[in-house]
Amino acid sequence: MIDRWGRGYFDVNPTGNITAAPLQDRGRKIALIDVVEEARDQGLRTPLLIRFQDLLHHRVRTLNEAFNRAISDLKFRGTYRGVFPIKVNQLKEVVEEILEAGRTYHYGLEVGSKPELFAGLSVHTDNESLIVCNGYKDENFIRTAMIGRKLGKKVILVAEKLSEVRTIVRVAKEMNVEPMLGLRVRLMTQGAGKWAESGGEHAKFGLSTAEILAACGILAEAGMSSAFKLLHFHIGSQVPDILVIKRAVREAARHYAKLRKMGHRIEYMDVGGGLAIDYDGSRSTFHSSMNYSVEEYARDIVFNIADICDDEKVPHPNIVSESGRAIVAHHSVLVVQAFGSIEKTPEAPIDIQTEEHKLIRNLLDTRDSLSVQNLAESWHDILQAKEESQKMFELGLLNLDVKARVEALFWETAERMQKLITALDPAEIPEDVVELRNKLADQYICNFSVFQSLLDHWALGALFPVVPIHRLHERPGAESTLVDITCDSEGKVSKFIDLSDVKETLPLHALRGDEPYYLGIFLTGAYQDIMGDIHNLFGRVNEVHVFLDDDEECGYYIEETIAGNQIREVLAMTQYDTQSLIAKVKAQVDGAIKQDLLKPTEGMRLLADYERGLKDQTYLSF
Ligand code: PLP
Repeated sequence: MIDRWGRGYFDVNPTGNITAAPLQDRGRKIALIDVVEEARDQGLRTPLLIRFQDLLHHRVRTLNEAFNRAISDLKFRGTYRGVFPIKVNQLKEVVEEILEAGRTYHYGLEVGSKPELFAGLSVHTDNESLIVCNGYKDENFIRTAMIGRKLGKKVILVAEKLSEVRTIVRVAKEMNVEPMLGLRVRLMTQGAGKWAESGGEHAKFGLSTAEILAACGILAEAGMSSAFKLLHFHIGSQVPDILVIKRAVREAARHYAKLRKMGHRIEYMDVGGGLAIDYDGSRSTFHSSMNYSVEEYARDIVFNIADICDDEKVPHPNIVSESGRAIVAHHSVLVVQAFGSIEKTPEAPIDIQTEEHKLIRNLLDTRDSLSVQNLAESWHDILQAKEESQKMFELGLLNLDVKARVEALFWETAERMQKLITALDPAEIPEDVVELRNKLADQYICNFSVFQSLLDHWALGALFPVVPIHRLHERPGAESTLVDITCDSEGKVSKFIDLSDVKETLPLHALRGDEPYYLGIFLTGAYQDIMGDIHNLFGRVNEVHVFLDDDEECGYYIEETIAGNQIREVLAMTQYDTQSLIAKVKAQVDGAIKQDLLKPTEGMRLLADYERGLKDQTYLSF
């Protein structure tokens, strides 16, 4: 399975450890457990985000070369000028690495807000590449983009509304700048998957055909028709089906061709984002997958634009794409530690009395006569016994010790049934008993927050590959789900990838005493890193940036470590000033000393502990 979603970037070595090959078949393979241990030596514990910077380079090259190859093979007369949408991962190191990798291809940036534009203007240094500005804009946004134009940058303001076109025209005149303008067309073709509503007639963004013509009218009136440089569309992220992409490209290309024929000398056609990631490895149209490759995506875009342009006898445009997910998803792995489990089956053996309650005698009979032939019947019998015991308890007819023994016997019998089921052909398992595996699953408690590190899983049910990063040469013992350390029952992972399907449990190894057990959550580099929320005040996690290096014995080095948030930092985000927190606790300590509740030395020690604790990280320390 790892070879399917891992795409040559992730694998398992003979000692059962997951390895990363940031350059696929080139360079060394790095065992993730080694990186975790080295980070630990440097004082950074899990949860730990490992970024493979070489992998970012590889993704940028793969995308650009796929387009350049398609352009050359299909004798397309435009060029490819990709842009990276900062919103998918705004971290400076990530953006700079991508720009560095894309320099030879004049790979640029896409921004969707004022802060992103401010960041973009400063890190962007190649004036051959584009800065595409999407999203709603106010006057300051537009003025800031014009600063870029004055600096010789190709900053294209994509208007989402007609009023923006008017403001762009006015500000450009005031600032004496030649603007570059794009229009986002609202296509009829709707995407597929979880982000399908970004496209179609009722999309939040974009201009209808009538509005596009009106925008052209505004430009003509202002004598700025030549500013219209780019036609843009975006039908949503993670489009699993290539047919949808082809349809959208053809519809947008038709708009481009008709506008060209009307005399608008549009230079760029921007196909937006949407290039998917095969999170479950099924290579299908399931929402977590994709039925095409990066190469097929590029060829289809180039071919269909050329086909429509040739049909309409208009020049081929330069092609822009705004792939975010496909560039960054693979490069980061979140490693979390499972440090305990919540099990259904009792740890201690059940103490059966000689004169047992009737419910228990029935359960014992069922347990002892269990066989593959009577699985369904036995399952119904134990369910009934458990239900009856609950009712009797509620009516005050059952003591706690009997209730405890009923529950323990129920789970013990269920576990024996599960063992019998494992030996059966799935087709032979009675329908009613299939749910047993999920009911029996343990919950592994992991030191992280779903809301900080895996928001799309909670919010949208997005699936990510989750695998232990070591012990893979041992057969896993238990089916489990994961729960995080937030005080929120939604803080869990109970949906896992399963080739075009969703599994509710994950096979995991038994925890061994104090020995750490690490799980990797893969393909988290797109959106998850950045959308995190500080629910329960769990902040950013520790981070290491790994570079390949043949001169190092292990084949890599940790270039940078970034410590996660301290408690005082997340408190400051919610208006708790550190000094005033300390002053208030000090006043309470002084009061306790005055009332003789504390000795002065003890009081000062407690205050020092409180102050020191504020510098701890927000996650649990093991
Ligand atoms: N461009 C625009 C306008 C977007 O809204 C998005 C995200 O939805 C993207 C590009 C990036 O899309 P993806 O991550 O699917 O490549």
